[in-house]
Amino acid sequence: MQHYFGTIVDGHAILDSAQRHHLLDVRRATVGEKIEIADGTDIFLCQVASIDPLDVIALEKTEFRRELDNHITIAFATLKGDHNDLIVLKGTELGVMRFIPFVCDRTVVRPKEKEDKKLLRLRKIAEEGSEQSRRTIVPVVEPYADFKDVVELSADVKIFAYEGEAGNDGTLLSIAQGIAKNQSVLVVVGPEGGFSESEVKLAEDYGFRFASLGRRILRAETAAIYASAILSAFSEQTGQ
Ligand code: SAH
Repeated sequence: MQHYFGTIVDGHAILDSAQRHHLLDVRRATVGEKIEIADGTDIFLCQVASIDPLDVIALEKTEFRRELDNHITIAFATLKGDHNDLIVLKGTELGVMRFIPFVCDRTVVRPKEKEDKKLLRLRKIAEEGSEQSRRTIVPVVEPYADFKDVVELSADVKIFAYEGEAGNDGTLLSIAQGIAKNQSVLVVVGPEGGFSESEVKLAEDYGFRFASLGRRILRAETAAIYASAILSAFSEQTGQ
């Protein structure tokens, strides 16, 4: 069943122009067709009642539970090429709620502004990924942050994926096992060249738990996706 994002008012769906375009011109919906509409809180089973004018009626609120109980934020050092796209697309499929691209000492390509076309593209990727994964919400892609702002963020569990921990006992897996239902989790992943010494010190000062993502050094985008997958799996386990 096709999945859309919108709102339900008095039993009728309200879709923005992009969603209407997709439904009418791309999918060429017909009268009687059933679709799902997610409103950020719930998912409704709906039916196309007429095409011109478009009228989509809500049949029932479903019990679908597609979001994680833990609110997961992946803060990642913005990367070269299209590697940021991969982090956002795969993280979205895995249930990440928020992405924060950040600039740090070893960032190679530095964004000139807090907002740019690449961020708009990431938001579009998050929306399409959410549609594909039939999520209830579209994760937020924040404007570019500085590393300093990221370490100051609050979360119940703050995790620093540090390449210097590779092969050590404090694995992300062992930290994930201790995360309780509904706790918010922030994971910080570094750039291609890794974190600088002063950044490591700052993360220590702000009380991050240092995590190993295994014995090997992963590429930054792999590290972010790995962290998303581990936390997603554990969240669904505690959420049972
Ligand atoms: N060029 C660096 C590695 C950077 S890897 C070096 O050779 O040391 C990019 C980012 O991915 C790191 O900053 C870290 O956040 C994460 N990462 C990759 N492998 C990791 C591992 N085994 N454990 C913890 N973090 C890892």
